[in-house]
Amino acid sequence: MLRETHLKINLDHLEHNVQSIQEYCHEDVILGAVLKANAYGHGAKYISKALFDYGIDHFLVATLVEAVELRRYNKDYKIIVMGHTPDIYLKEVIHHQLIPTLFSLEQAITLNDLCRKNDSQMAIHLKIETGFNRLGMQINDNTVNDIKAIHELSHIHIQGIFTHLALKDKASDMRQFDKFMALVTQLENENVSIPIKHVCDSISMVLYPSCHLNMIRIGALLYGLESEEKGILDVKPVLSMHTKLSHKKQILKGSTLSYGNRWRAKEDTLIGTLPFGYADGYPRNLYQKGQVKINHKFYPIVGVICMDQCMIDLGDDDISFDENVTIIGEDLPVSQIAHLANTNKNEIVCRMALRVPRVYIKNNEIKYIDNPLVGEI
Ligand SMILES: *Cc1c(COP(=O)(O)O)cnc(C)c1O
Repeated sequence: MLRETHLKINLDHLEHNVQSIQEYCHEDVILGAVLKANAYGHGAKYISKALFDYGIDHFLVATLVEAVELRRYNKDYKIIVMGHTPDIYLKEVIHHQLIPTLFSLEQAITLNDLCRKNDSQMAIHLKIETGFNRLGMQINDNTVNDIKAIHELSHIHIQGIFTHLALKDKASDMRQFDKFMALVTQLENENVSIPIKHVCDSISMVLYPSCHLNMIRIGALLYGLESEEKGILDVKPVLSMHTKLSHKKQILKGSTLSYGNRWRAKEDTLIGTLPFGYADGYPRNLYQKGQVKINHKFYPIVGVICMDQCMIDLGDDDISFDENVTIIGEDLPVSQIAHLANTNKNEIVCRMALRVPRVYIKNNEIKYIDNPLVGEI
């Protein structure tokens, strides 16, 4: 690994989560796996490979760069870019055979012209605005005609149509859903039938089984990150974070440590130094709140968390340098860290840095080690 601080990615848990999600949905529903932000920090390369082995081939990302990365791994992935792709990059979309999200007739015409010049056919998904007010075609008197015009373009095939829910409350989410379905019905009445319709992310998939349509876009739940408040499915956390002590020292009562010497020992104690910090993705604002677990026991992080290191108070426990230190994992779930850091679970995992090696576990054995900064080991 070249480093003790690492993320352990449990592919058995990933497979378990896929099964739980598939059991919850009708068998005709396509499980679209959301792999944006490096698969929520879990590593898009091996997560996509593992999912593909489980029979999943629809992958969704936010940006063109993420899509181009995935394309390097497999020519058979169906890769949907959910965000906006500026016109200047559309030729890359064609070149890499990606599926872009469009939300204007103008861009569809631009893409169609490019496809004609390239003598290629493209599948696209259309995004519809229903109440999130982020991206999407506004629904007004022109919408049906605009979509009909896109439908008639010679080199573009509207493969999918979707919207995104704000998850405010059930009534408001259903208003969004109904607005979307009314448009779909209007289009079908005009003989524009679009094969794949999708609305649900992880939370709405659990809350609204009647809204699954024929595809769902699942990120958080795949990785075992659940919204306890908003519905429970049997999923297991895929990611954990571990390290080992890099240094130990006995300090006297009254000694201080780290930047600003802001922490002072109330009594003589043993201080352990750990080789991880906020540049690895651990939130710096866990100062005075964070803890790690060694041998079933918790130890508080003391002093300001540095970019690459932090200190823990070991008290009287002379922990061996070989001992596993859990930073995130059993009894230290992502949800707890997110809560202490005043953010959500997705932010904690998606900020995990590339300099942290990922170790992929399958059947309790190391299957791959990925160290993006140095390439294949
Ligand atoms: C990120 C994203 C998702 C996945 O959301 P989860 O809550 O992680 O399942 C689905 N749809 C869109 C449009 C997204 O941007």
